[in-house]
Amino acid sequence: MGFMEGKKALIVGLASKRSIAWGIAQAFHREGAELAFTYQNEKLRPRVESMAQELDSNIAFPLDVSIDDEIDNVMPSIKKYWEKLDILVHSIGFAPRDQLTGTYIESITREGFQIAHDISSYSLAALAKATLPIMQDNDSAILTLSYLGAVRAIPNYNVMGLAKASLEANVRFLAADLGKKGIRVNGISAGAIKTLAAAGISDFRKMLSHMEKTSPIRRNVTPNDVGNAAAFLCSDLALAVTGEILYVDGGFRNIGMHLEEND
Ligand code: NAD
Repeated sequence: MGFMEGKKALIVGLASKRSIAWGIAQAFHREGAELAFTYQNEKLRPRVESMAQELDSNIAFPLDVSIDDEIDNVMPSIKKYWEKLDILVHSIGFAPRDQLTGTYIESITREGFQIAHDISSYSLAALAKATLPIMQDNDSAILTLSYLGAVRAIPNYNVMGLAKASLEANVRFLAADLGKKGIRVNGISAGAIKTLAAAGISDFRKMLSHMEKTSPIRRNVTPNDVGNAAAFLCSDLALAVTGEILYVDGGFRNIGMHLEEND
């Protein structure tokens, strides 16, 4: 029997089989959780529905977090199938491409700042609020995905770093508010992984190769690595863990000087 047996999880952020959300969904399914998914738009719908089916789920509905009506629709959509929700996974982030190239000072604009923070950080609080009536009083968990750019200046990550810093603060504020309702809130700061979202960041391949050569485990992390940590954090194995950011980055964050192997 898996350690997530009986848990019902909504996973927001599935776009492809490279998505971190896919690694999380696979780990949850392996450990016995029942799954529901959202898709950002009609273009993604068939792909998300077919991936959901592979994991024995027939629940997939639209959610673009920039549209309040779609956020309001999350709870009624879930209630068609389930009375309660145990887990909410928020695996989404976005900034316009022009924000993720060149220096921070050159690329930053008011509009880019607003979009990055709205889609990547505000949406966590909005979804937590929207699902609260079906999550409370129930050993439940919310999980989001962050990146090292929240706490270090990373080339080209620019305004997304600010949005991730806001997201990590969001985790702490939500954890403080929701703990008494039986809801834990955590984040995973994942190492760089080649996904659709990551393709928008200039020189992403260089980031991958640098991590592979210099992180303590000398390889890049995978969506499966993140999925396994996510399963732990969202399960009853982690009932006393909340407000945390868990680094699943092969230890990269802990190294102060990154001399490459052949330097
Ligand atoms: P991905 O492209 O597979 O997933 C990003 C998801 O965000 C997609 O499903 C997309 O539909 C969704 N999304 C974007 N705008 C949206 C909107 N307005 N409404 C609803 N959904 C929207 O990429 P990923 O790398 O799996 O990204 C998932 C999360 O992991 C993001 O928060 C990302 O910042 C974070 N992360 C990624 C990496 C990496 O290197 N890939 C590292 C650390 C953290």
